[in-house]
Amino acid sequence: MRSTMQDAPMSIGDLVRYGSTVHGGEAVTTWTGAEPRRVSFRDTGRRAARLAHALRGLGVDADQRVATFQWNNQEHLEAYLAVPAMGAVLHTLNIRLPADQIAYIAGHAEDHVVIVDASLLPLFAPLLPSLSTVRHVIVAGGDPGGLAAEGVEVHRYDALLDGQPDTFDWPEVDERDAAAMCYTSGTTGDPKGVVYSHRSIWLHSMQVMTTDGMGMTQGDRCLAVVPMFHAMSWGLPYAAFMAGAPLIMPDRFLQPAPLAEMIETLRPSFAAAVPTIWQGLLQELDANPRDVSSLHRVVIGGSACPPSLMRAFEERHGITVLHAWGMTETSPLGSVAHAPAGSTGDDAWSHRISQGRLPVSVRGRIVGPDGKVAPNDGETVGELQVRGPWVAQAYYRDADPERFDNGWLRTGDVGTLSPDGYLRLTDRAKDVIKSGGEWISSVALENNVMAHPAVAEAAVVAVPDAKWAERPLVAVVLKEGATVEPAELRAFLADTMARWQIPEHWAFVEEVPKTSVGKFDKKRIRGAHADGSLK
Ligand code: ADP
Repeated sequence: MRSTMQDAPMSIGDLVRYGSTVHGGEAVTTWTGAEPRRVSFRDTGRRAARLAHALRGLGVDADQRVATFQWNNQEHLEAYLAVPAMGAVLHTLNIRLPADQIAYIAGHAEDHVVIVDASLLPLFAPLLPSLSTVRHVIVAGGDPGGLAAEGVEVHRYDALLDGQPDTFDWPEVDERDAAAMCYTSGTTGDPKGVVYSHRSIWLHSMQVMTTDGMGMTQGDRCLAVVPMFHAMSWGLPYAAFMAGAPLIMPDRFLQPAPLAEMIETLRPSFAAAVPTIWQGLLQELDANPRDVSSLHRVVIGGSACPPSLMRAFEERHGITVLHAWGMTETSPLGSVAHAPAGSTGDDAWSHRISQGRLPVSVRGRIVGPDGKVAPNDGETVGELQVRGPWVAQAYYRDADPERFDNGWLRTGDVGTLSPDGYLRLTDRAKDVIKSGGEWISSVALENNVMAHPAVAEAAVVAVPDAKWAERPLVAVVLKEGATVEPAELRAFLADTMARWQIPEHWAFVEEVPKTSVGKFDKKRIRGAHADGSLK
């Protein structure tokens, strides 16, 4: 028997309509380094309508790809809303990837239009000739200067929107159609495209809004530090528009000092970013105290959050840290680490430093090296596989059967699942250190080293070893003015780790290399060790 319920599609068009009317009085504030720019959700909806008309005028039709090469700011949000709502497909390009990868990704996705931030033209202009499918470039926030390439028309964003109607009849879409796409940085082989549907974005946004998700709600002032080109800014822009949560956009000002100033001035209540951003902010606040009391809750994810970082924010700044796990392939929100109801003290803490509880929509299972599904007993270690309505079932034009297992996504993450749904990751499969037949978790080592008061950052990689196959090497960044010898760090680790797990290789560095989305770049650390530049 079929239900008697309406089959109304979940669409970004409806999200735009709702956010720009019901929450029309809320605003997007973009940091500019001078006077912040404030545009209401109502006007943002109008500007999105104008952008959609302008794109139609350039011939964007059906599911053509409109790419963005932008910071988190007003115009990028307008593209987030307009492009999917008009039925086309938004493609966020990661501005920090090497030029050849960006060219590959834009060509693979067959981007037709690119919206570029004027401040990024020095990066973009040399790239343009290699973007073979691009026919239009729209420059936002400044002058295109001499930007030109054969077969490409260059436009100014504001001039293109001028005179366009303020409303757009957002078409009814099939909720399973593509709305947006994002490529993972591809640790091996070419980058892989994940294509989100209207439905997956909609359901994911609702998860961001649930209390046991990120708890985004009306009146939350949301500082979206995580870039809009990194896994859709973790769903914050869409969820904020749905919830009526004012958005604060940092634009290109992502360094610790301007972030601290932004928090003091614009008083966000909620923010999200990878651990390295928060580590930097913590040090900045130690050196130059600011009033960050407006921040009640921050989500830290993208790589394992050191418990010492969580404690520091909570104890020194009264900010609750929510640890979350996800991937580009999971839209990206998977689990969020809230303590179970009624738990207190160490018990609550042990849950909060885990990767969190998978929600009803993200089913998880642990699969052992023998390919058999392991019990969710909180002890048996294996690879995490997930499935659900906002989890990818394939990559765009890339079969890669290695990453899928009968409808389940193989995450490449290794850990355990407990009977009550908590995920505890020990490592990424490729980062785990295989020493003498035993495994050492690089994450556990990092967390324990970072708990030492002299240490600002520590990244651990495996290096080849004649006797043990692999041994851990720790790249350590010390806090300003601090000194410490490896012997002391080894002694410090003896409290928390087995003797055979304690590293003998230590490298003191100025900075740990970071990936395009700000995570420890272990590939580069391994490379630096292999070529002798890091000992
Ligand atoms: P990239 O592969 O470029 O880092 P993603 O952002 O999609 O792109 O990375 C997803 C991966 O990040 C996960 O598979 C996992 O290894 C790691 N990750 C994300 N959140 C956490 C977390 N809270 N703890 C540990 N690892 C995490």
